[in-house]
Amino acid sequence: MTTSENPKETPASNGLFDQTPETLSELLKQWGEPAFRCKQIVEWVYEQGVTTYDEMTNLSKSLRLLLAETLPFYQSTIVKDQCASDGTRKLLLAWADGATSECVMIPDGVRRTACISTQVGCPVGCVFCASGLDGLQRQLTAGQIIEQAMRVREMAQADRLSNVVFMGLGEPLSNYANTVHAVRTINAEWGLNIGARKITVSTVGLPTQMRKLADEKLQITLALSLHAPNDELRRELIPWADRVTISELVDAANYYFEKTGREVTLEYILLGGKNDSRECARDLAKMSKWMRSNINLIPYNPVDGLPFECPADETVEMFHSMLRERGVNAHVRASRGSDIDGACGQLRRREGSDFISITTPDES
Ligand code: SAH
Ligand code: SF4
Repeated sequence: MTTSENPKETPASNGLFDQTPETLSELLKQWGEPAFRCKQIVEWVYEQGVTTYDEMTNLSKSLRLLLAETLPFYQSTIVKDQCASDGTRKLLLAWADGATSECVMIPDGVRRTACISTQVGCPVGCVFCASGLDGLQRQLTAGQIIEQAMRVREMAQADRLSNVVFMGLGEPLSNYANTVHAVRTINAEWGLNIGARKITVSTVGLPTQMRKLADEKLQITLALSLHAPNDELRRELIPWADRVTISELVDAANYYFEKTGREVTLEYILLGGKNDSRECARDLAKMSKWMRSNINLIPYNPVDGLPFECPADETVEMFHSMLRERGVNAHVRASRGSDIDGACGQLRRREGSDFISITTPDES
């Protein structure tokens, strides 16, 4: 199947956040700098959290200038900074080409979670989601994905950033290389140093890339957006489900478990009158047994102009308890930040920007 790896006008990956210690030291070597410079710079960026080259006071002025000319550091401008009544904070970032991305900081007890985007828009176009309504504008570079996590880390300030979820705008596995590069930097000890188990990549379900991710030897959580217990209903909701069956996704999820020892999280949005019946709950419970998984039920966060609604609380409770009665490890996940356009892609449509779906991640 085709997976939209062909970006429209993706900018060059030439910023400081695109570098690994290996590529950075290679560059510094070419400039005749001693080997320890790389470590100094990386420490300034990720440990000290400085935001300009000028703050790297143990580097010569000429090196700082050369770096600024060669490797742009923070490349986004903060266009908007909103705080929801539940403490969720959202930043709207604008890139040099005018594209925008949103990233979110979600406080939850002691946890501080960054929710970040991987694309500008989304090529999938799920019928309930605001992100894909205008299609894919372009891919984000690895550096731009990492920069969002850094911006959110800055917002979390003294409270250390504990989790990162790739649940913002876009389909991470159709921007595979940049997503994996960003995951590695976020996980690296020299980078953001967030444990792999605290990183979640959510996918609409691309089996080839799910297997590839399993082979990356990362211990991250893979979340699979299932949303329906049978192919027919899934195809009504997710256009790309035309190209893939649930049974292929189950095989890929089992492969992920075999290779990583990590259970796959199944995400199931509850859409009133659409996929929230007793029959759906029964079928979902049955199919979830075909793999090692847990289920996150996400009551729908309504999107202006789309004909879906969140089910009544009793329906959500009924669906949840039917799963639990059948021995399924299922949780209801609250959508966060709804008073600041919480649903995926909403703010973008209102403000000409991009947005993010926010759910609290699984802790395992
Ligand atoms: N494209 C990936 C990741 C981004 S979407 C994916 O689809 O998995 C992250 C999650 O938010 C997905 O499970 C998606 O279905 C969900 N989502 C999208 N719009 C939503 C809405 N309006 N309310 C609740 N969840 C939503
Ligand atoms: Fe894209 Fe995910 Fe939204 Fe579907 S739910 S349109 S895959 S961001």
